[in-house]
Amino acid sequence: MEFAPRMSRFKPSPSQIASARVRDLIAEGRDIVKLTAGEPDFPTPDHAKAAALACMDANEIKYTPINGLIEMRKAAQLKFKRDNGLDYGLDQIAVGAGAKQVLFNALMATVSQGDEAIVPGPYWASYPDMIQLAGGTPVFINSGQNSQFKMRPEDLDAAITPNTKWLMFCMPGNPTGAVYSPEEMRGLADVLLQHPHVNILTDDVYEHLIFDGRVFSTFAQIEPKLYDRTVTVNSCSKAYSMTGWRIGFAGGPKDIIANMSKMQSQSASGVSAVSQAAAVAALEGPQDFVKERTANLQYRRDMLFEKLNQAEGLSCALPDGAMYIFCSCAGTIGKTTPDGKVIENDEDFTMYLLDSVGVAVVQGNAYGLSPYFRASFVAPEEDLKRGGDKIIEACAALR
Ligand code: PLP
Repeated sequence: MEFAPRMSRFKPSPSQIASARVRDLIAEGRDIVKLTAGEPDFPTPDHAKAAALACMDANEIKYTPINGLIEMRKAAQLKFKRDNGLDYGLDQIAVGAGAKQVLFNALMATVSQGDEAIVPGPYWASYPDMIQLAGGTPVFINSGQNSQFKMRPEDLDAAITPNTKWLMFCMPGNPTGAVYSPEEMRGLADVLLQHPHVNILTDDVYEHLIFDGRVFSTFAQIEPKLYDRTVTVNSCSKAYSMTGWRIGFAGGPKDIIANMSKMQSQSASGVSAVSQAAAVAALEGPQDFVKERTANLQYRRDMLFEKLNQAEGLSCALPDGAMYIFCSCAGTIGKTTPDGKVIENDEDFTMYLLDSVGVAVVQGNAYGLSPYFRASFVAPEEDLKRGGDKIIEACAALR
């Protein structure tokens, strides 16, 4: 088969490749501590599961409207109002199979050849590939550990050109957990106000996974003048531990939402009625458990953080949100493993961890910054301790 040229414009998801490799090793009988998870390990809440069962019992499981069932759009509308103070009409809401499909639809519907989309890095690995697949060019802003992986207003200003179509923004960030304070968001919003041709595609999926009492804010809320050019994306995946149900949604300008729905109509059609029923129950039901789960994640973050910072050659900053620690392994570069291999980059380091002590993490270059690695703290406490100790042991063995 001769494949379409578009296939060479993007690569498969690196974290999914890492997970597949780990699954293979486990299937071969290796004892692997997995610190690669990109999803919470809590169960889907019972009231969401009950709503899904009721939907099936009622046989309400036919094709669904392209832009989501009315109940689903009302639930998304309620969520945006309750959590973000944002008012969206029902014709301003799109629903897709996860935030990923919603982001994909937005880019496919709007990006033309020559358009640029700004991607603050380190970034979620899918953004550049989605932009390129849509025919656009990602423009990176690289922020390091010394700026807590956050871009400054002047960095944003310098990256904007007449071709900039989108700022792709993600907070809390994957892989860094970076959280911008409302004041920092204000600084970025002020820059955006000076460039009316730039639209904002904000990926807020980690909104509720935010630690130490930090406050979440999103662009359309911080600066109402940006409302007309912002698409605010969210999902049930991370907040409610509903990754497999595949429900994401967006609020935004009517014309963009209509074109996103057009993309949806000739790809997947409307998403599963059963999943939408569960999502409605999650979005409209009790919210207290989300805070309890986040507190538990914060506890696990601290546990892994303490271990990683004890390892020779590693240094990391405490993430303010999401589920990952983005850790520098700069101090291991140039060292030699007990097998006589020199660690030249973060890929070598992560391979060394996997081969020598059976700990799986993802190399930083997958997210646009080296030499780092992403370690997820969504793992049983026992694995966080054991994995952390094994990393300390592996680092101590380097010469
Ligand atoms: N956005 C970010 C930053 C993510 O890390 C992920 C998943 O890992 C997604 C979007 C995908 O979310 P969903 O499951 O809603 O498609």
